[in-house]
Amino acid sequence: MQPLRLSGRAHPTAEETLHHAEMLAVPDLDASQGERMTAVVCPSCPGVLAVVATVGNKPSFRCRIGHMIGANQLLEMKEVRLEDHLWAAVTACEEFAALLRDLQAFPERQRALLEQALEIRALIERAEPIQWPATTDEASRSAVDGPEKT
Ligand SMILES: [Zn+2]
Repeated sequence: MQPLRLSGRAHPTAEETLHHAEMLAVPDLDASQGERMTAVVCPSCPGVLAVVATVGNKPSFRCRIGHMIGANQLLEMKEVRLEDHLWAAVTACEEFAALLRDLQAFPERQRALLEQALEIRALIERAEPIQWPATTDEASRSAVDGPEKT
C-alpha cells in the first residue's frame, strides 16, 4: 500500500509505522534510580513525560512543565485526546468536502472525503473505552495537579 501523500510530504510506509508501534513508550518504569524519560507526550501540554515514582505497581509521571499524572489518569487522558484527534479528522474531511461542493470543484474528491469522514466516524463509534475494574487503585488515578510548586 502506498503511503498517503496528500500534501506532497513524505509519510512513513505501513512497515515503518508498524516499527514505530513496536517502540517502547515507557522503556523503564523503575523510578528508584531517579526520573526516567519516556517517549510519551503529556496530555495537557507538549512536554515529554518522565517516570518519577511508582504507586503500587503503577508509575506516576511528570512532564517538563510539571504536570503530575498517575498511570490510569494518563491512559484516560490519552484516550480522550485520541478521540479528539479523530473528531478533528472528521471535521477536516467534512469541511473540505463542503468547500469543494460550494466551489463546485473536484466532485470525486468531495465524495471520497465524505466517505473518509464516515469511516472515521465508524471507527470512533466502534471504539471501546477503557473500563477500569472496580478495585482500581484510586491513589494512582490522581488528577493532573498542574506544575509543581517548589
Ligand atoms: Zn504537561
